[in-house]
This record gives sequence, C-alpha cells and structure tokens, in this order.
Amino acid sequence: MKKEFKELLQSKGRTELPKVLLASAECAPLSKTGGLADVVGTLPKSLAKLGIDARVITPYHRCIKEKYSDRTEHLFEFYVNLGWRRQYCGIEYLELNGVKIYLVDNEFYFGDRIYKGGYEEGEQYAFFSKAVLDALPNLGFCPDILHCNDWHTAMIPMLAKTVYGGMQGSLRFLLTIHNIAYQGKFGFDYVQDLLGIDSKYYTPEFMELQGCANFLKAGCVFADRINTVSPNYAEEIKTAYFGEGLEGILSARSAELSGIINGIDLAVYNPHSDPLIPARYDKGHLQRKELCKLALQERIGLEKRPDAPLFVMVTRMTEQKGFDLIERMLDELMLYNDMQFMLLGTGDRRYEDFMRLAEKRYPGRLCAYIGYSEELSHLVYAGGDFYLMPSRFEPCGLSQMIAMRYGTLPIVRETGGLRDSVKPYNRYTGEGTGFSFANFNAHEMKDAVLLALDCYRSPEVMRSLRRQAMEADFGFDGSACEYARLYIWML
Ligand code: ADP
Repeated sequence: MKKEFKELLQSKGRTELPKVLLASAECAPLSKTGGLADVVGTLPKSLAKLGIDARVITPYHRCIKEKYSDRTEHLFEFYVNLGWRRQYCGIEYLELNGVKIYLVDNEFYFGDRIYKGGYEEGEQYAFFSKAVLDALPNLGFCPDILHCNDWHTAMIPMLAKTVYGGMQGSLRFLLTIHNIAYQGKFGFDYVQDLLGIDSKYYTPEFMELQGCANFLKAGCVFADRINTVSPNYAEEIKTAYFGEGLEGILSARSAELSGIINGIDLAVYNPHSDPLIPARYDKGHLQRKELCKLALQERIGLEKRPDAPLFVMVTRMTEQKGFDLIERMLDELMLYNDMQFMLLGTGDRRYEDFMRLAEKRYPGRLCAYIGYSEELSHLVYAGGDFYLMPSRFEPCGLSQMIAMRYGTLPIVRETGGLRDSVKPYNRYTGEGTGFSFANFNAHEMKDAVLLALDCYRSPEVMRSLRRQAMEADFGFDGSACEYARLYIWML
C-alpha cells in the first residue's frame, strides 16, 4: 500500500483500504454509448493496482446477455417493489479482465435499449436504483463507498437515506457527474408512485427544480461527496452558463465538490499493439500511421491520397458536440480542395441528415458513417490527421485523448476537460499537442482549422506535434490515485 494512503487511513482510524461498488447504467466493454462506460470499465482495473477492491453493478442489458450469458453465474433473485408493481430482479455475476461485475437482470427494463428515453427511462433506472439497494445486503461484498454515476444512479443516496430509513450504516455515497446536461426530470406524482418518496422532499431544498422532481439534484443534495470529470468542469458547473440550474446547490456544496480528470485504457487504445488497425506504430515509426490512413480511406470510399489532410470525428451527434459550428462552416472548409472529412457517429436526426447530404456534395472527399462501431473507431483514430471536437461544453472528453494517443491532433474548443487535456500549438516554441479556440464561434473554429492546415504543410512540425501528443500521459492511474484519496477521505 502507498505510504500516503497508509497515513491517510491512520488519520481515519482505519488500516484497510475502502471497498467500492460502482453503480452505472453502462460499463465497457459490456455496454457502451459514450465515455461513462469507458470510465466505469477502466477505473476498477486501475484501483486494483492500488490494492482497492472496486466492483461494478450495472444492468444486464440484452447486448450483454447476447455476448456473455454463457460466462455469467446466477447469484440470487428477489422482487423489487416499484409503486404498485412487483418486478423480478435477478443478480448475475461476471468476471471480465479481472473486474468483478454484478448484473441486474430484468428483461422488461433492460431489453434492446440502454436508455429507453422519456418517462420509461425514469422507470428503468428507478428500478435499477432500488434493485441495487435491495441486492446490497446479499451480495457477499460489503462496500464502504457506493460510487454513483450520473442521474441514472443519482437517486440511490436519497433512497437509502429516506425511503430505506437510513439503511446505509457506515456506507458513504459518492456521486460523479459525467454530464450535467442530463438530469432525469419527472413529475412529482410519477416519482411518488414509483419510489414512494414523501411529498415533503418535493421542495427546492431537496429534489425540486423548475417544477420537476430532479434525480440529479437529489443526488447533489444527498450524496456525501460530489465530483466531476475534470477540474475545469468542476468550476464551470458552479456558474449559470454551465450549471443547467444546479449551480446553486453545487456552489453551496463547493467544499464537497472536486474535479478528477478521466483517463483512457492505455491497453485498449495503443497504436503499438492495437489488433483493430492494419499497421501498428509508435512515435518513432510514424510513417506506418500513413498505412492506417490509406486503409481508412479505402474502407470508407475516400480518394486514396496520403497527401490530403484527413479530419475525423467519432462522436454522439448532439448539440453538445458542436455540430452547429460544423453545419455553419463545413462548406467553407471543404473549399480547401485537398481537405477530406470523415465522421463516425449517430445521434440527432437533424445532424445525421445534414452530414448525409454533405456526403453527396463531396463524393470521395467526405464520408458520413452514421452508426456505432467500436471496431471502425480504432481505424478512424489511427487513420486521421486531425480530430475535430468543437464542443459547446465538455465535462472531460475521452475522444481527444484517444486521438492524441494515436498521434491524431485534436482541434478543440477550450472548455471543460478539453482545456485541461489539450495543449494548444505555440508557433514560437513549437510546443503543443493540438489546436484550440476559445469562443463557441464558427469563424474561430475555422481559424484553428486553418492553423492546423498550415502545420500540415510542414512535415517537420507535424512530426513534432504528433510526438508530443503521443507522449502525453492519459492513463487512468493518476486519476485512480485521486479517486483512492477521495474514497479514503470519505470514510
Ligand atoms: P461522451 O461521453 O460525451 O459521448 P467522450 O469523448 O467522453 O464523449 O467519449 C466518447 C466515447 O464513445 C469514445 O470512446 C468514442 O470513441 C466513443 N464513441 C462515440 N461515438 C461512437 C461511435 N459512433 N462509434 C464508436 N465509438 C463511439
């Protein structure tokens, strides 16, 4: 055990490291729609290196069942009372890559979609939250910390401390906000019916916000500690612009709110050993990256041109990710004859349609691959020259870190974790790991793209920037250390 942890534990009158249970709607590689899954899948592995037993509890989504059912073990079952309903709940167990995972099984709630949307999603995750608390006494694993993630599990601390009548004992609750824009807002009657929460809690002091019962707010009020996924975002969400109505409670709890930047799984995202890319490379053999570019161009139907700068994106297609700027600027950028653009993503219909149409306007130069593909994403990260991420806001962002790991230079807006992780190119010193712009403005984005194109003309500059990007440390071990400190501090 690290000396620092020993001392910290001593100050708490303990000798043993805390045990942790992470509750989350998704967990890579089992189920994934975005960065949350990556974090929940990776953090336990890094915590294990520090001697912390961290396990995961997550829904047994159909996509998991289809792939892993022959490897899971049925532990026990019970019924969850949800308003007037009594719903079956099975607890299955799976060990994957050394991570111990409990799967909450109910085919009605966890069918084809990880997130059902609307009120159905409220019921889905109200069920999950109660299932976690009901299962806890029988898991055979007694955590000190229940680590909740985003609104889907944010009701757990409140339920434990109210409906379950203080069942938590010495259990402490940490809430990590991965994205404050999603809060889980429902009518009071609905929440009362589902969860049986006393009407005295439907006030601004507890879970009311803008006339709704708000799951994330309940988490912010009842969790023992709150954190978010980058130091910069932890500051931002205390302001009205980023706080989405929660800035008041977060400012009030400022002393219990911190930011820990996420990392990526360096074993999964490693251009030197990645089985999903056609040519492996490292910072000393960057010419092999070009083979990946050619393979990508061929696979997605772009002109096979090693000299053409290839801009890529792998993303959820939502307003958050800056698609308004791309809509505004794409045609102007494509005036630069050489430029190629590839997007792998899925999301809002409006942006999907926009990209599909753009593909028709620029045959051989622009590809809109609308869909989700883990396998293709690796080739995109490896084959691209620049990674565009002009987010309106970005709690942490993993894509820019993955891109840098593959020597693909990110072009980002200076917000949230993008500001914490990308070092903008300095033309005087030559330092940098990417490019950035400050305001959410299409012309500022264009200027950053033009600077990138300028650098592209100089192989020497590109090589140096790629090397610096690949040398940056985005592993999870540093973040895991900070989580460990936080867990111990919470005991
Ligand atoms: P967010 O969590 O807001 O979606 P992040 O940048 O933190 O954004 O994480 C996104 C993760 O999801 C990355 O691992 C990215 O590669 C992956 N991803 C997003 N969209 C797709 C897609 N269409 N296909 C494959 N992977 C995707």
